[in-house]
Amino acid sequence: MCGIIGVTNHPDAARLAYLGLYALQHRGQESAGIVAVDGHGQPRFHKGMGLVSDVFTEDRLAALTGSTAVGHTRYSTAGASTLLNSQPVNVRYKNGTLVLAHNGNLVNDAEVRRELVHEGAIFASTMDSETIVHLIARSPHDDPEAQIRGALAQVEGAYSLIIAVDQELYAVVDARGFRPLMLGKVGDGVVVTSESCALDIVGARIACELEPGSFVRIRGSEITYLDPLPPKAPTRCVFELVYFSRPDSQIFGESVDQFRRNLGRRLAEEHPATGADCVIAVPDSSNSAALGFSEASGVPFELGLIRNHYVGRTFIHPVQAGRDTKVKIKYNPVREVLQGKSVVVVDDSIVRGTTSPGLVTMLRQAGAREVHFRVASPPTIGSCYYGIDTPHPAELIASSHTVEEIRQYLGADTLGYLSLDGMVHASAGDPQRFCHACFSGAYPTALPSETAKHRFETQP
Ligand code: 5GP
Ligand code: MG
Repeated sequence: MCGIIGVTNHPDAARLAYLGLYALQHRGQESAGIVAVDGHGQPRFHKGMGLVSDVFTEDRLAALTGSTAVGHTRYSTAGASTLLNSQPVNVRYKNGTLVLAHNGNLVNDAEVRRELVHEGAIFASTMDSETIVHLIARSPHDDPEAQIRGALAQVEGAYSLIIAVDQELYAVVDARGFRPLMLGKVGDGVVVTSESCALDIVGARIACELEPGSFVRIRGSEITYLDPLPPKAPTRCVFELVYFSRPDSQIFGESVDQFRRNLGRRLAEEHPATGADCVIAVPDSSNSAALGFSEASGVPFELGLIRNHYVGRTFIHPVQAGRDTKVKIKYNPVREVLQGKSVVVVDDSIVRGTTSPGLVTMLRQAGAREVHFRVASPPTIGSCYYGIDTPHPAELIASSHTVEEIRQYLGADTLGYLSLDGMVHASAGDPQRFCHACFSGAYPTALPSETAKHRFETQP
């Protein structure tokens, strides 16, 4: 998964991109980059491994002059986590400077890339996104619109793209619309970005959301809606709403916060916890769902777990770390809230099942009398090939265990998962428009022939 932003026609384009990336940090923490393009088509960039606030300094930002900028935060789904694989991709081709930021994952990348390599193409990275750059650059057309359209006709899968050709910006969402892309305006400037929380931070107002298949060109302050891509049935990623996006964002035409509250309300109806004393969240990802559960059930919401926000990716785990140490480093129970209580704990999802047993143990050690685990999404049974780094099915606890087996493994008194139907009906929009392959196994595309994330690290 990744966070992307494009800014154009604004004197502080790189600074706005930086602020926006800061608000999109949750979408990718591996690397961050900004490419700014000036009026001569001259690109200036800075990229680095790690968090946005670590990668950029005041001096580095000040050097990124130009009224167009494209930014990216990366969380890898195809290609290893290295600087060579950081985005935006920045090259020169026949029309000038070409900058591309991609959120999503292609499913036919292996085939297209092999063909390109066979024809002599030289790849600098192992990312699927670079394939799109090659296809654009090799297009027989002279016009960027036709070049991009032709390139996208050859790839299949999930892509929300921001592309700069010199100072002109293009924004595209694949026809199924897996990943969000929002368009905003700030003064005479135009901003395109993954989530509305990034528009808020730069003081931009939402102009519109790009629907599945949208293809937009931004030239100065002029926004042109080009012919959309050939239509397909939309499959918006439901996990964006369940977990990935920020609750203060609007995506897919609805409020992430409201969607999650509805998940919690529906969960309370499907799996009530009669007689429980309090509802707690596993902060922060399930806060809204836990509030919805509390509201629908009438069981009071309490802050029973406190999360340490300073656990970085580089945290060194003590050598003698026991099974629960990882959980203890991130969460601590509030004993006064839990002592002697029957507690409902709401989490947004169980993936590998590594966090939840430790949480249940922690709650019991803090004095909870009963622990009723509730999950605001269905059992996670399948990998995602569209941009979320879900582990291989063998690592997904629900792919090989029944709910009762998982309950025993967690050590919870009861366990309830929200149904698939309950999840999609939490939406304020059409419940049919979602991709829920990781929960249902219903994949909307052909599956990729090669699924290993590091497939191009060991072969061309
Ligand atoms: P588990 O311990 O079962 O593997 O993970 C469950 C927890 O991970 C949940 O609290 C959920 O909020 C979080 N989670 C779900 N999906 C993802 C993901 O794609 N990346 C990360 N880092 N956490 C996730
Ligand atoms: Mg969580």
